[in-house]
Amino acid sequence: MPELPEVETVKRTLNELIIGKKIERVSVHLPRIIQRPADPEVFAAMLEGHTFEGVARRGKFLRLLLDGLVLVSHLRMEGRYGVFRSDDPVEKHTHVIFHFTDGTELRYKDVRQFGTMHLFLPGEEWVNPPLNKLGLEPLDEDFTLERFRAVLAHRKGKIKSLLLSQLYVVGIGNIYADEALFAARIHPERTADSLTRPEWKRLHEAIIHVLQEAVKQGGSSIKSYVNGQGEMGMFQQQLAAYGREDEPCMRCGKRIRKITVAGRGTHYCPNCQRRKKRLAR
Ligand SMILES: [Zn+2]
Repeated sequence: MPELPEVETVKRTLNELIIGKKIERVSVHLPRIIQRPADPEVFAAMLEGHTFEGVARRGKFLRLLLDGLVLVSHLRMEGRYGVFRSDDPVEKHTHVIFHFTDGTELRYKDVRQFGTMHLFLPGEEWVNPPLNKLGLEPLDEDFTLERFRAVLAHRKGKIKSLLLSQLYVVGIGNIYADEALFAARIHPERTADSLTRPEWKRLHEAIIHVLQEAVKQGGSSIKSYVNGQGEMGMFQQQLAAYGREDEPCMRCGKRIRKITVAGRGTHYCPNCQRRKKRLAR
């Protein structure tokens, strides 16, 4: 599933590919991708004649900016965008096509069909689902240690579940949650309110570091991640915890263990990331 770094990579790629392109018409082959407006035909009609002016990101959502409209898109498990010529054969599982006036098209393909698109007038997107309840952007300057602690430090939930929820910090999915908690040496099942000040500091730094590194490398591409040009993103980023069950910990040599937290496969080092009792601060 794409997380912040992968979505950031798609954003940057789309910014190079679709800016200035004018939509002639839109075909929707799988209506349920379109969440707003309710009628996909209205969605298509609203977009006709509009031009892409920019692509931004909020958490794991893309914000495709047009003249007078904002399209909010979530790739969920396996959604992909690609720009093609209109005579290129259309691949299976292509659900939405934005036909441009220049003979090219932006195609949205999604084997798992979990992706979503919401269309808004500019500004409306911030006060409506799915963007209205999102947490702090971890790569923004205002993601300070104080703000991070303010939204989380009093919570009783497991730290990994809270990181995944998107309500407090956005963009972190299963891979980067495991990587950040490993880097910070915090057990994924620790409750947020049990973390010490030095642990918050390490986690804050770790989140920024793992996400920044992954953005630099264009996303970690565990599986089936494809950038906006339709290229497979096999970047072979070195992951320290995620997917390394039974392999030696890079820090201490003990074997990485896999458990389930928040319903997700979770990798951690039982030696470096201990389940300790609450400490005095
Ligand atoms: Zn270790």
